[in-house]
Amino acid sequence: MTYKTTRKVRIGNIEVGGDSRKTVQTMWKKSLDLFSGEDLEEILNLEDVGCDILRFSVPNFRTAGILAEIKRNINMPLVADIHFDYKIALECIKNGIDKIRINPGNIGDEWKVKEVLQAAADKNIPIRIGINTGSLDKTFNDISDKAEAMLKSAESEINILEKYNFTNALFSLKSSDIESTLRANREFSRRWDYPLHLGVTEAGPLTAGLVKSSIAISQMLNQGIGDTIRVSLTDKPIQEVIAGREILRACGMYANGVDIVSCPRCGRSTFDTHEFISSVYDELYRVKKNLKVAVMGCIVNGPGEASDADIGITGAGTKVVIFKHGKIYRKVDENKGREEFLKVLEEFVR
Ligand code: SF4
Repeated sequence: MTYKTTRKVRIGNIEVGGDSRKTVQTMWKKSLDLFSGEDLEEILNLEDVGCDILRFSVPNFRTAGILAEIKRNINMPLVADIHFDYKIALECIKNGIDKIRINPGNIGDEWKVKEVLQAAADKNIPIRIGINTGSLDKTFNDISDKAEAMLKSAESEINILEKYNFTNALFSLKSSDIESTLRANREFSRRWDYPLHLGVTEAGPLTAGLVKSSIAISQMLNQGIGDTIRVSLTDKPIQEVIAGREILRACGMYANGVDIVSCPRCGRSTFDTHEFISSVYDELYRVKKNLKVAVMGCIVNGPGEASDADIGITGAGTKVVIFKHGKIYRKVDENKGREEFLKVLEEFVR
């Protein structure tokens, strides 16, 4: 596969585009007005499970101040998502945000966009132009082909950016339908070399959203298109991050972390793999090493899969068998399974 070479941009401590690794991002889903210490823990956990970039909606000056305070406590690059009021973008830039996402169609007069571009250029931070079919500038409302409308909008934004010599930009062209998203991104990639943030907007709840996003994002990645991804789900940010990781892994673009093999369970199962996976989910996704883990319900396929994994656990009657390096390590009562499994995981991590 030939990958489209895009220009590189720096967002805080990471690079996106060019030959950089593909990154995963998500969006904070609660109001910043209600931000608490627990939320800070949640952000740190998102970083731990592989979130590279986190975006916040910033609707007013008060939330711009709260975001500035969060930024002081987080290493991960943070993005301010601004609609309508260019002065909030200026405030976030002044406060040291790592990237701004705007849809210039929502910002209004060109002189306001120019001020935001100038402020971003002064601080050397990039801007993502996020084009969504749901919030296109009304100039493009008459174009019935959604992909064409997004491309026209992108062209118009690029003309404004380049008029002011601003090229430190990324683009996203998202629709809630896969076909328009694919067509718009393919054509954008053919015509311009700005890095592309991939995603399907308003993709749906967990299962439906995962299916749509996986189909669209994996097709684009496998055609050499895209630099960073966000899986948009009606679910928690952690699910978006893990979904993003798994899409990159399935496309051969995510090297680190666990590869989980787990059985769906059937009438033969003597071990509740569903409950077990939920109980170790965060611990598994925090692992930075490249490990294969097998969680199996019974001895039909359990030993075979576990012997092919670095760590395995499989039901065996009233007990569970823990495997290490593909060999039987210990057989314990099911209620001790989690504890023993996590001890072995800890050994691998160390
Ligand atoms: S491993 Fe056992 S419990 Fe799991 S699906 Fe296969 S037969 Fe069923």
